[in-house]
Amino acid sequence: MKTVIIGAGAMGSLLGGLLSISGEELWLVDVWKEHIDVIRSKGLAIEEKGITRNIPVNATSDVRSAGEADLILYFVKTYHTEKAVKDSLALQKENTLFLTLQNGLGNEEIICKQVDRKKVILGVTGQGATLLGPGHIRHAGWGKTSVGELDGKATDRISRVAQMLQKAGIETEVSSRIHDLVWEKLFVNVGINALAALLGIKNGQLLDYPETLRLMETLVHEAVEVARKKGIRIEGNPIDRVKTVIEATRGNRCSMGQDLDFKRKTEIDAINGALVREAERFGIPVPYNRMITDLIKVIEKTF
Ligand code: NAD
Repeated sequence: MKTVIIGAGAMGSLLGGLLSISGEELWLVDVWKEHIDVIRSKGLAIEEKGITRNIPVNATSDVRSAGEADLILYFVKTYHTEKAVKDSLALQKENTLFLTLQNGLGNEEIICKQVDRKKVILGVTGQGATLLGPGHIRHAGWGKTSVGELDGKATDRISRVAQMLQKAGIETEVSSRIHDLVWEKLFVNVGINALAALLGIKNGQLLDYPETLRLMETLVHEAVEVARKKGIRIEGNPIDRVKTVIEATRGNRCSMGQDLDFKRKTEIDAINGALVREAERFGIPVPYNRMITDLIKVIEKTF
């Protein structure tokens, strides 16, 4: 299955590298020319548990040169999705599949505005990666990946995508409830990212103080209330799940925190901001999420 990944940052490069090693025809596309030049000349360096491998990967900054694709996978930041989808339409053939494994809400809708909905599939991933420099990433998390059809049906094409990822060493399941899983991942991001980012702390410190625990729980409670109203089926206790993720990533500075530290735009609009928009549609007050969204937006405006 010829796969083109649009957005070859931390996550795009990780999946691109692993798929290339497994023998799949794979292209990385990124607008960051220096990064692409290093991958083309020296290979992609993936650091994993202290060992660095150099992997030859097809890479280009000219999207058209990647050629027609069986699968187009988006790994740009959420505020770049619309442009990335537009750029990638040139790679489309009759049965091309379009997949996003990005965080947050709204990516599916942005893709479906430009692409026939029947060609769109959805996923979430617990894999984690950090960009260390041009052509160089660190594999930092090994959680499960789930993919699914928008209508939840078990199809051959979704099984083929899952098998391809599985073969590349990415633990993957097909889910009949992929929208529920997108929300479950949202609960984690809603509870951790903006709060840890604003406070300038590492994830684990959210569990160390009664105040941060209370704030985290309230942010997640608000999100759960909106999800329930929307008909999202929630399995288990979302707060416990967020705490488990915090514990497992105790030493990490979350990506939104790194974005603030380096004065970069954040994905707040797709995370707490998206939750606020959903809540408005149902008339549910979510004052904590609204406030934390506004605080992050103001910080972004001061950059
Ligand atoms: P990143 O910033 O490292 O990479 C994004 C890349 O997209 C950049 O290299 C950028 O140059 C490129 N880009 C921007 N516009 C483009 C365009 N039009 N065409 C081609 N390339 C373009 O981001 P990331 O950390 O890899 O995250 C990507 C997505 O995955 C985000 O939604 C994030 O929340 C999600 N995610 C990240 C992790 C992680 O551990 N990093 C884990 C799970 C999910």
